[in-house]
Amino acid sequence: MIKVQDYRPQPFTDFTQPENIQAYEQALKKVRAELVGKHSPLVINGERVDTAERLTSLNPCDTAEVVGTTAKATIEDAQRALQGAWQAWESWKRWDMDARARILLRAAAILKRRRLEACALMTLEVGKNYAEADVEVAEAIDFLEYYARSAMKYAGFGAAETTWFEGEENGLLYQPIGVGVSISPWNFPCAIFIGMAAAPIVAGNCVVAKPAEDAGLIAGFMVDIMLEAGLPAGVLQFLPGVGKEVGEFLTTHPKTRFITFTGSRAVGLHINEVAAKTVPGQKWIKKVILELGGKDAMIVDETADLDVAVTAALQGAFGFNGQKCSAMSRLIVVDEVYDRVVNAFVERAKALRVGTAEENAPVTAVVNQMSFDKISGYLELAPQEGRVLLGGQPLGEANGKKGYYIQPTVVGDVDPKARLAQEEIFGPVVSVLRARDWNHALDIANSTEYGLTGGVCSTKRERLEQARHEFEAGNLYFNRKITGAIVGVQPFGGYFMSGTDSKAGGPDYLANFLQLKSVTERW
Ligand code: NAD
Repeated sequence: MIKVQDYRPQPFTDFTQPENIQAYEQALKKVRAELVGKHSPLVINGERVDTAERLTSLNPCDTAEVVGTTAKATIEDAQRALQGAWQAWESWKRWDMDARARILLRAAAILKRRRLEACALMTLEVGKNYAEADVEVAEAIDFLEYYARSAMKYAGFGAAETTWFEGEENGLLYQPIGVGVSISPWNFPCAIFIGMAAAPIVAGNCVVAKPAEDAGLIAGFMVDIMLEAGLPAGVLQFLPGVGKEVGEFLTTHPKTRFITFTGSRAVGLHINEVAAKTVPGQKWIKKVILELGGKDAMIVDETADLDVAVTAALQGAFGFNGQKCSAMSRLIVVDEVYDRVVNAFVERAKALRVGTAEENAPVTAVVNQMSFDKISGYLELAPQEGRVLLGGQPLGEANGKKGYYIQPTVVGDVDPKARLAQEEIFGPVVSVLRARDWNHALDIANSTEYGLTGGVCSTKRERLEQARHEFEAGNLYFNRKITGAIVGVQPFGGYFMSGTDSKAGGPDYLANFLQLKSVTERW
């Protein structure tokens, strides 16, 4: 029997063990031999469809290398994908919940066997080092397992409690809502791509999934696993393409019932706006689930264990080069310990080597030219908005390879209202902000329009309790790093401009893709 209580998050791989490093290197060789240079077509109604134009995935750590190509969907492809998904829905919505859940569980089992391959592919396609790729594939497995198991609580008539009433039978029925569009980012191209597709699917919906332009290969790999696991044709349509073209077409289409989007605030708000406009032929209000950016802060007060705080800051800031929505991009330190914390932080950050993901460097290249240019712009601004304590240069090359490398950068004494303290940079750049005391630190933490992750390093119970209620963040962490939410353990999602707080990997996430019907029979 499938039960949510049986869910256990995947353990992570210990890369201090030489045999795990060797296994990873072997996987890189295998992926180079078998997957690199390959082409991934669209999948519409279970069939592979090629297109005249293609999207290219470059290795960000060695831009001379083409990792592979995907098809580039046209508007006609998107139209067919949507139509086919509605046809597939007619039977998929009638499947028993447990039968649908078994497909996800089988996909999780296949991915467990192919875990290293998925990791190695991401190392090449988006520049994740071994540990970063490993935790992401673990998260993808967790999403499949967790959503499969948590679906069971929505199965059958009477799944949700109603009050007894004389002379009648009353009950609630959760029903799938139709066909939706899932649009994902490049920074978690395996876990977020599959999580945002698997959740609506297990609930009985069909999905047209559009991956990010830079990361279509790992998404195609995941679609193959879902098909191998037995997903019927048309339930998951794979549609790599350009966001402004097919993404825009799908989100504005009258036959799109829901949109699940993870990406930047600008695109998310645009989707929210266009999806709210009713178009001819549309007979519902579109549901829009948005997971957007952040300007995440960690506070260190004068009572904190400073070693714990500096380690947490380092991990939160530079893991995957700061390219996480949850990354610590503001370090807020109270004046009394400011110099000690900042000096130690800069010393530790100085030791971070910049290199290729393939050689497992702690800091690798950022994903593409656009990111490189955007981050470089903030580096130019840094000396005007604070004191550059470390880094400050785009590198463009590391270890003899041309790529989108940026030096880990720390900028001290940044004003809380400065652009460096307010805007999401999405790279290895940390702004340090000086607070007079604890209350000032909390005010600074709450002074952006975002509200995604946050942290406090303190040993004062009353401050932690105050932060529990007043620190405006969807995911708050005490005395540890602020990244690395685990499915089911730390359901993830932000407030304010960081999103609709739908909590991926949380107990109510599947309800986003279900509607509740109340049915009454008078005896
Ligand atoms: P992005 O907004 O540039 O792109 C995301 C997706 O939207 C891509 O698939 C893209 O093709 C598509 N898109 C672009 N324009 C579109 C349009 N007009 N209509 C429909 N789709 C369109 O974001 P990105 O650079 O891929 O990802 C980084 C961003 O994602 C950061 O802001 C990061 O904070 C955020 N993010 C948030 C979370 C979260 O859970 N809150 C998780 C990961 C990433």
